Amino acid sequence: MPIDATEPYDADNIFAKILRGEIPSSKVYEDEWAYAFEDINPQAEIHTLVIPKGEYVSWDDFSMSASAEEIAGFVRAVGKVARDKGLVEPGYRLLANVGAHGGQEVPHFHVHIFGGQPLGRMIA
Ligand code: C5P
Repeated sequence: MPIDATEPYDADNIFAKILRGEIPSSKVYEDEWAYAFEDINPQAEIHTLVIPKGEYVSWDDFSMSASAEEIAGFVRAVGKVARDKGLVEPGYRLLANVGAHGGQEVPHFHVHIFGGQPLGRMIA
């Protein structure tokens, strides 16, 4: 079920539980600002999710409410994960679904990294 991107943060959402180590995830990277893990239902050869450590419902919430330091740390972490996976050449795709029309299902902001294959023009 897609979420409402303006809803208050739910500390019991599945990614919050992953961050707290309450449910398992396939971790690929972690630093002060971000945590990255493999998507359990990959839509491409490589499909990794990067989430901020802070409590943000969506890109809207994150981009408007996070500090400049958090935003910079998170953006750098996304770039690092993609680099570490060897995706810079031949390339990759970033995606953030926002709210109902964006098809966002998990109410903790996340960026999808897709790669490892030619992606065509659209991927959900
Ligand atoms: O952007 P959206 O909210 O639709 O994407 C949520 C993503 O989180 C899905 O790709 C889903 O496979 C993934 N997921 C996951 N591990 C979970 C629950 C969801 O990787 N435990």
